[in-house]
Parts: sequence; structure tokens; C-alpha cells
Amino acid sequence: MLQEYRNEPFTDFSKEENYKAFQAALDKVQSELGKEYEIIIGDERIKTDRTMKSLNPSNLDQVVGVAYEANVELAEKAMQVALSTFDTWKKYSPAARARILFKTSAIMRRRKHEFSAWMVLEAGKSWAEADADTAEAIDFMEFYGREMIRISESQPLTRIPGEDNELTYIPLGVGVVIPPWNFPLAITVGMTTAAIVSGNTVVLKPASPTNVIAAKFMEILEEAGCPSGVVSYLPGPGAEVGEYLVTHPKTRFISFTGSRAVGLRINELAAKTVPGQKWIKRVVAEMGGKDAIVVNNDADLDLAVDSIVKAAFSFAGQKCSACSRAIIHQDVYDQVLEGVVAKAKELKVGNTTDLGVDLGPVVDDKAYNKILEYIEIGKQEGRLMAGGGKAEGNGYYIQPTVFADVDPQARISQEEIFGPVVAFHKANDFDHALEIANNTDYGLTGAVLTRSRANLEKAREEFHVGNLYFNRKCTGALVGVHPFGGFNMSGTDSKAGGRDYLLLFTQAKMVSEAL
Ligand code: NAD
Repeated sequence: MLQEYRNEPFTDFSKEENYKAFQAALDKVQSELGKEYEIIIGDERIKTDRTMKSLNPSNLDQVVGVAYEANVELAEKAMQVALSTFDTWKKYSPAARARILFKTSAIMRRRKHEFSAWMVLEAGKSWAEADADTAEAIDFMEFYGREMIRISESQPLTRIPGEDNELTYIPLGVGVVIPPWNFPLAITVGMTTAAIVSGNTVVLKPASPTNVIAAKFMEILEEAGCPSGVVSYLPGPGAEVGEYLVTHPKTRFISFTGSRAVGLRINELAAKTVPGQKWIKRVVAEMGGKDAIVVNNDADLDLAVDSIVKAAFSFAGQKCSACSRAIIHQDVYDQVLEGVVAKAKELKVGNTTDLGVDLGPVVDDKAYNKILEYIEIGKQEGRLMAGGGKAEGNGYYIQPTVFADVDPQARISQEEIFGPVVAFHKANDFDHALEIANNTDYGLTGAVLTRSRANLEKAREEFHVGNLYFNRKCTGALVGVHPFGGFNMSGTDSKAGGRDYLLLFTQAKMVSEAL
């Protein structure tokens, strides 16, 4: 009998035994650095003449692993394998498919710190951030396995005499899964397992900076008994391999999480019907954010400062849910700003193999240069209060940066920076604060801190974001607890980790028999 779904607990690293276990996992992973990871298509492991190196963003001399790079021919091969495997995979019972997720989750739980250690080294996550990422990956598998069993049970229909009617959810076909690098385990695992547990086969094109973590997931999926061909592992350039798969006539759906620019491009490409295509491709696209924390003059100000600092700077601000705008009532503006600036200056930036570090590097040279450019733009658009440039070390380190008195129309208030940068805005009153909060194309997360019930109710109605939090930070969604997805240019609001999610990867079939 299946136990009730529960979130995987986070690890308490202040306990000696946990500290030691994580350190041992880091040592184990350090001894496995630099290995090669082959492309996986069905039973075949394939090497090509092009490779992609994963560097440790905390220490650029360290090569975490090397993935072979796929090309268009291999993308076609993966598509053909996924198509033929679909015929057998869709016949597995929902419970049998769910059991593969539960087994994969059990293996991951046993090797939890090892998975997290790979993320410390390949993505520059802190111990706690990596631990949360692994816990979320486990949660997705446990949740979607149970969800598949739930939706496979006959759906309640209105009964009429003389007929037997049934509605079931059947799979779609071959899906292309394109995750981002910032939750390299959780999002990759969540998007992939939701699609396969629903009975689809998948071509997975991992995000290039974190090819190795995706390969580690493939290893345990195989160990758990997932038949070959159900998921192909196809590292490669998004524009080449990704677009080939997106435009393929046999692609039935695309599950994408990443930037707005790429999501919109995929949506556009997928909308164009190509010869040999006989369906409308379904696109699930979760994209960027320009998330705000609103602080009213009646808020708990210590909580406000703490929430802004955590949501803006943890994982160096590289979360779609990160707070990049702090919108503060004029009465408490100076106080909150001072508090955030003081804390930002205290944060320790460095190599995340060290537990004592608050924030690590950003992921690669592209992100590093882009964020530094935005910081220069910010110096024109606001008053620099903390940070403002590179931080020391042999990695992509950037200082936690705070700008004050920024105009809501400024570029740093409108464009996603995806780094440790927060812009402060002064609001005349609560209504004005909500107006500024909604003044963006995005609509992913937001938070409101106030002690006023009336203001909370107003925000509940008017603050237009997919995930709205009251009197807490705007990051840290839990599977099953806070289904996650955004409005407007933040995406299709697919609500990952929610009860509607698997319906996106299925189609409902109604059969009516006259008796
Ligand atoms: P990205 O858009 O650069 O890349 C995402 C994926 O798309 C990668 O696998 C990449 O290789 C692939 N890709 C790139 N160009 C492509 C193309 N032309 N065709 C097909 N695939 C292509 O994003 P990223 O830098 O990996 O991730 C950061 C972004 O993801 C941020 O904007 C962040 O807000 C967003 N994000 C959103 C959510 C959410 O749930 N809304 C969650 C995490 C991250």
C-alpha cells in the first residue's frame, strides 16, 4: 500500500553526522571528476567528435565532466527510437510506470548527498541549496507517481440509463524536454518523469552547463528498470539540436523551462505546421521572472529584511523566483534599505564546497558578463548601496549588489538579470506599491509583507503573479504544497508539482457503450 505523499525533509548540516556524510559525498564526487558522458539513445551509448566541458564555476581549473555533443543526425535517431518505444511504453500500466519513479526516487534518496555534491561542483550551489534541489527532485517523482495512479482511476461522469461511459487519460506521444541549468536536478527530473509516467517517451536535451547532473539522473533511471528508449539523453547546442527536435513533425509536445526569449522562440516554431505533422504541438513553457517583495509600513521589518536578502541573494539570485525588486512603503524605506544593505555586505561569497559560504558564483562566463553589464547599467539608473562588481576568486564570483531609488521603468527593474542584484523602489502607499509590483511583463512570484488583513486581501486579488506569498519570502516553493508556474511572459502557468500538471502530458479519451 502506497504511503501518503510527504515532502522530503531538508538536511540539518549543523548535525555532525550530516556534515560528515556530506563532506564524504563531496570527496567521492571530487574523485570522479573529469569523466566522459556518452549520448544515450535506446541501448546505444554514442561518442561524437565534439564535446562539451562542464567547468566548476567556483574553480575554473576544475573540469567536472565532459559530455559528447549530439548533432542533428543523432537527434533524428533519438526521435525514431522514441517513436518506436512509445508503442510499447504506452501499454505499461500507470501503476507500473509509477513504480519506476518510486524506485528511482528510492535510489536517489539513498545517494542523496552524492547528487547534491554534483550540484555543488557543477552548478556552484551551496550545500543547503543543493540539498533542497535533490529533495525537490525526489518530491517530483513521489508526487507524479501518485498523481498518475490517481488520474488513471476512472473519472466521475454523469450517469444515464442504458449506457456505460468511461473517460481515461492517455499519453500524447514523443515529447521533447528542455530544462534549464539552475535547478539541474529538480527541474530536469520533474519535467522528464511527469512526461514518462503519463506514458510518453522523451528526448531529453539537458542544459549545457549541467550536462553531468542530467547524466547521473539517467544512470539511476536505468538502474530502476526504466526500459531503454523511454528517455534518450541528448546533450547539444539548444539552437541546433533543440530546434531540430522542436520543429520535427513527429514531436507531439515540448516541455520547456528557461528564458523568455528561448521559450517564445520555441512557441513560435512549434506553432508552424510542417509536412508530415498531424497534430497541434502542445507547448508547456515556463520562463523568466522579475519578482517583487512589497513591504508595507505596518510590516515586521526584520522579517522584511531577512526575506529580501534570502530571496535576492541565495544561489546568487539565479532563481526564476528570486526577488529582483524590493518595493517599500516610503515610511519604512530607509530602514528596510539600510537593513538589506548591512546584511548584503556581510554575506560571504566564495567556493561553495565550504559550508560557511553564503553565496557562490554565477554559472558561466555568459551569465557573468551579462550580470556585470547590468550592474553597470544599474549605476546609471540607481544609487549603488552595496556590491557593484566582481568578487575575488578563481570563479564567476559577483558581489551581492543593491541599488536604491530606481525608477520602476528602468531597465534593471524591467529586464531579468538572473544574478545577485536587487533594485529598491519607494512607494507612496500600499496601492502604489502594488501598482509598481504589477508594472512588468512577467508574473511569476511575488511576496507582500504587511500586518493589515485588508491589504492582504487586496493583494490576493490584485497582485497578478502565479505564486504569491504573504509575510514570507518569494522563493522556496515545495512540490504538492505550492504548485509552481507564472502568468504573462513568465509562461504557460503549468503549475509544476500541482494536481493539474500531468493533464498537460495526456489527452482525455471518452468511450461510450450502449447497453
Ligand atoms: P535558456 O533559455 O538559455 O536555456 C534553457 C534551455 O533551452 C537549455 O537547455 C538550452 O540549451 C535550451 N535552448 C537554448 N536555445 C534553444 C533553442 N533555440 N531551441 C531549443 N532549445 C534551446 O535558460 P537558462 O539560462 O538555462 O535558464 C535560466 C532561465 O530559466 C531564466 O530566465 C529563469 O527565470 C528561467 N527559469 C524559469 C523557471 C520557471 O519555472 N518559470 C524555473 C527555472 C528557470
